[in-house]
Amino acid sequence: MSATTALAPWLLGPLQQALDQVRGHALLVHGQPGVGQFDFGLALASAWLCEAQDGQGAPLRPACGRCTACHLIQARAHPDLMVLLPEALEAALGWSAASDDDGKSEPAGKGRKPSQEIKVEAVRRAVAFSQHTSSRGRAKVILIHPAGRMNTVSSNTLLKTLEEPPGAVRFILSAVGSVDGILPTIRSRCQMWHLALPDAEPAVRWLCAQAEGLSEGDAALLLAAAGGEPGTALDRLTQGLTASSWRGLPAQVAQGQAGAMAQWPLPLVIETLQKLCLDLSAVSVGGQPHYFEAASLPAPPPLARLLAWHKQLQQVARHAEHPWHATLRLESLLDQAALALRRRAA
Ligand SMILES: [Zn+2]
Repeated sequence: MSATTALAPWLLGPLQQALDQVRGHALLVHGQPGVGQFDFGLALASAWLCEAQDGQGAPLRPACGRCTACHLIQARAHPDLMVLLPEALEAALGWSAASDDDGKSEPAGKGRKPSQEIKVEAVRRAVAFSQHTSSRGRAKVILIHPAGRMNTVSSNTLLKTLEEPPGAVRFILSAVGSVDGILPTIRSRCQMWHLALPDAEPAVRWLCAQAEGLSEGDAALLLAAAGGEPGTALDRLTQGLTASSWRGLPAQVAQGQAGAMAQWPLPLVIETLQKLCLDLSAVSVGGQPHYFEAASLPAPPPLARLLAWHKQLQQVARHAEHPWHATLRLESLLDQAALALRRRAA
């Protein structure tokens, strides 16, 4: 499958715009999670390297998917493309590069968790890579996703090359969510490129095409559950979240049960409880819920109680990444929730 036939439909327009408009050597593609930053970056890199472009100044088109360069990219083996990812994302994105695994640290497994960071060694390899001339004569592209996973040392290692890039090298950096995690000195050297979330309709159609047997109604619910982020909805679906378990969740939480959340990482549990709290708050002032179906929500408790619950959740969220006592924390979160949602005031 070529990089562009797999591209989500809402990215096709922005891709052509980027091909027409981006002239600088460094681009920072940003947007909400799940909008498709990596796919977009890869499609752009593929188009820049595609050898079916006429190379005589005609407008660039998306990659053809059939030329040698496109085949090399599909095989993760194009000598002029370097993709930097945290180890933890390689499998999920189907990208463990054949071209840059020399000098890599020991493979994950045997108890060692795959790294969430883009390590300084990888950035050093990218800097060295940028200094060689293009092997196939089109360009050289370095794709860094998500750029916020570079720590300060890695970012500073990249900075000089980003400032004075040698020759034909082009950088595509991505930001998933806020760009705040990327050093301002890096951001200021990049052209910013925003990817907007798609409308619900194309996102629902896309979700149905990705997951066999998924009905449009269930896809719409899972999309809403993910705050309109299609990639996030697909991830949750892949991890086993179903529309029916999402529908059942509010009633279970009101009874202090974890339901579908029993095995979820704590940050996701907290985010979900926050969504429930927001939806109930909306309903209690006569509004519409955003994340859950109105019919699946319990009767909202008094607003003051919801506000207090909201504050409690905000406090826990600040420490959500803390690994200690995850089970205990889940229990206390559910106790809190049940107390907030109980039928009668104490
Ligand atoms: Zn091609």
